Amino acid sequence: MSGIELKQLSEKVFYLPGTVNAAIVLNEEREAILLDTGSDKDHGRRLKKACDNLGVKPVVIVNTHSHADHYGGNDYLTRNFDLPVYAPPLEAGIIQNPVLEPIYLFSGAKPLPELMSKWLLAKPSRVDHILEPGALELFGVALEIIDSSGHAHRHYSVKIADVLVAADAVFGINILQKYPLPFGQDIGGQIASAERMADVGAQVILPGHGEASEDIAGLVKANIAVFEKAAKTIVGACTGVAATTVLKRSCEILGITIKDLPRYYLNHCTVMAYLSYLRESGHVELALQDNELRWSAAGN
Ligand SMILES: [Zn+2]
Repeated sequence: MSGIELKQLSEKVFYLPGTVNAAIVLNEEREAILLDTGSDKDHGRRLKKACDNLGVKPVVIVNTHSHADHYGGNDYLTRNFDLPVYAPPLEAGIIQNPVLEPIYLFSGAKPLPELMSKWLLAKPSRVDHILEPGALELFGVALEIIDSSGHAHRHYSVKIADVLVAADAVFGINILQKYPLPFGQDIGGQIASAERMADVGAQVILPGHGEASEDIAGLVKANIAVFEKAAKTIVGACTGVAATTVLKRSCEILGITIKDLPRYYLNHCTVMAYLSYLRESGHVELALQDNELRWSAAGN
């Protein structure tokens, strides 16, 4: 097999490892379904080259969610090879209008220019079909689309026989060690979705970031432990202070040093998602006093 960079997960499923993993699923006619396309044109090119090396032709793109690093290769691939694109609802709107990502990270206001880098702002892509959870036969391949929302508001994972392309429903062990506050937009959903990954009958799981694993239960457990530690840390930081102070204290406790504005706003969004989840689950309270929103642990 001459796929220079590709790793093989099963007879029909390969992936291109990188800062973000994109998967290639083959059908009987040597055609390829692309699951996510990486962060940019270069990533799209590498995916095409990987298909060339396998002797297969890409015929369709399935995006798992709308974060720029997962669909940034769409533009190159759709423009040059006219591939149709499938994406989850809501996320499809962002994939077609990528500026919405820096806009929501900056609370809906005109984003700072630092948030308009390709890390957070991909080129727009058309979306031809909205995905629904359940069975989907695509170019002769039986896919199971699994709702794994939470990391993104609508996030879908894809199961092909016993291979689960989880995308960012879970993170690889090495990623969890590096990022003790992994990005999430709906933490209740994120925890439930990570747990779901262990219950779908797969033998091997590919996270969006990090190594594939056959220890699915172990990987899920490690993800839940990190989410729970982050939640506990954030509750402890809620001592009648503003969310920005909760963010600062939580980062100190978790050993995170934020070095740039994109990372600041990604962490900020994640802390807001935890606060929303923790308020809904009765762990923290919110008071509006002196024109400031102050977060406290429940009962304090
Ligand atoms: Zn993501």
